[in-house]
Amino acid sequence: MKAVLFYRHGGPEVLEFGEVPTPEAGPGYVLVRLRAAALNRLDLWVRQGWPGIKLEYPHIPGADGSGEIAVLGADVSGWSIGDRVVINANLSCGKCDYCLSGYENRCRSWGLLGETQRGTYAQYLAIPANNIYRLPANFQFEDAAAAGLVFHTAWHSLMHRGKVCPGETVLVVGASGGVNTASIQIAKYAGAHVIVVGADARKLALAELLGADVLIDRSKVDNWSKAVYEATNKRGVDIVIDNVGTTFPQSFRAAAKGGRILTVGNTGGARFEIDNRFIFSKHLSILGSTMGTRQDFAMVMELVFARIMNPVIDRRFLLSEARAAHEYLEKGEQLGKVILTIDDE
Ligand code: ZN
Repeated sequence: MKAVLFYRHGGPEVLEFGEVPTPEAGPGYVLVRLRAAALNRLDLWVRQGWPGIKLEYPHIPGADGSGEIAVLGADVSGWSIGDRVVINANLSCGKCDYCLSGYENRCRSWGLLGETQRGTYAQYLAIPANNIYRLPANFQFEDAAAAGLVFHTAWHSLMHRGKVCPGETVLVVGASGGVNTASIQIAKYAGAHVIVVGADARKLALAELLGADVLIDRSKVDNWSKAVYEATNKRGVDIVIDNVGTTFPQSFRAAAKGGRILTVGNTGGARFEIDNRFIFSKHLSILGSTMGTRQDFAMVMELVFARIMNPVIDRRFLLSEARAAHEYLEKGEQLGKVILTIDDE
C-alpha cells in the first residue's frame, strides 16, 4: 500500500511517500481502506520526536481517519465489508481496572494511534473493531476524519472533567485550533456563555461563527485576563479551557472563585511557572485529561453526524502531499483542520 513514512525524526523533509506491506487484520481487528485522514499538532511532535519516544520504523503518522471496512479479522461480529467507519484513535487494553470501569482513556497500557503504533496517513489501517464507529451513508469521510480526535478530546474535557452547566461562563484561550473550535461548540451546546480570546480578527470571526458570545482580540489589549474580568462584571469565568499552558497565569486571573481550569495540551510549551497563591486563594481546580472514553466518542460523533456540531476544515491535501500539509500546519495560520484525502494514487 501507499503510505507516508519516516525513518528518523526531523522537519517535514523526513516525510516520504512510499510503499509498505499492507497490514493484516488479526483476530478482533478490521482492515480499513482509508479515504481521509486529518492532521493534528501531535503528528508534528511525533515527527520531531522527544526524549524517550520509541517508534517502530518506518513510522506512519496520523491519529484521525475514516474509510470503509476492507477485511474482517477473526472473531469480529456486527460489521460487514464495505461498512463506512470513523476511527477512534484511543487505544486501550479492554481488560485493566480503568478499562473495565469505562475509562479507556486512562488504560494502564494506553496508546494513541499514530504515536504508539502506525497511524492513518496510509491507504490501509489494521485497527481493533472496538476502535471503529459507524458513519452514516450521507456523512463525508473528510468531515468525519476532521471531527474525530478534537471533538472526542474536547467533549471529555468539558462534559466529563469540567462538568460544564447551563448558564456558566466558559473562556476558551485560542480561537482557531481544532480542540478550541470544538470546545466553543460543545460549550454552547451545554448552554454556557462563551468568551474567546484570539490572536486576531480573522480567527475571532471564526469563533463568532461557531457561536462565541464575547470576543477578545489579544493583539488589541495589553492584558486579556483583565478584559475577561471586565467582560464578566469583575466576577471571572467558571471554566477556562487553556491548552496553551504558558498562559496559565492569565487564566488563573480570569477565573472566578471556585473556577475550573481545563487542559488537554500545551501548545505553548510543557514547562512554565505558576503562582500557587491563585490556586488556593481562589479555590481553583486544574483538571487535565487526554482523549476520551468510548461512550464519549459515540455521544459526540452522533451530534456531529446530526450537524448539531460541525468540524471546521481549512484545507485539503492529497496523501502524497503530506509534507506540504505538515509545512502548512507548522505555520499556524490555518483556521480549522488540515485534511489528507486518500485516493487510489
Ligand atoms: Zn486497559
